[in-house]
Amino acid sequence: MSVLQVITVPNPLLKQVTVDVNTFDEKLQQLVFDMFETMAHYQGVGLAAPQVGILQSLVVIMFEKKELILINPEIIFTDGQCVDEEGCLSIPGLRRQVERAENIIVNAFDVVGNPIQIKEEGFMARIILHEIDHLRGILITDKKEILSEGSE
Ligand SMILES: [Zn+2]
Repeated sequence: MSVLQVITVPNPLLKQVTVDVNTFDEKLQQLVFDMFETMAHYQGVGLAAPQVGILQSLVVIMFEKKELILINPEIIFTDGQCVDEEGCLSIPGLRRQVERAENIIVNAFDVVGNPIQIKEEGFMARIILHEIDHLRGILITDKKEILSEGSE
């Protein structure tokens, strides 16, 4: 296991669209392990492969002791809207209010290539949507900033 280097803006790899994973081998499992270790090292709640310079459709998430590995994720349902603050390991120091769907259903594959479907809500859904955005080259700085009324 090893901690990988997390790339930061303005590295152009962060703006690229990823390709699907099609080989579920030991190398992929090693990458997933390393991404979990990297995420823990930087105290993140989610990490997408492009953030470690790998343009493959893969994200790992660790939030409130729940671990998720989503390979080739596809959002098949969204409902509701909510605004909350987000940060990004690839944009050190930035916090931004972002609007996201409140409920989501995502189809993906696990690390050995079995299809999975997950249904999440609230902040977990937010993390998943943030990470899936990374797979499309979208950063929180590309999202409309929501300025909450009455603050500051
Ligand atoms: Zn991010």
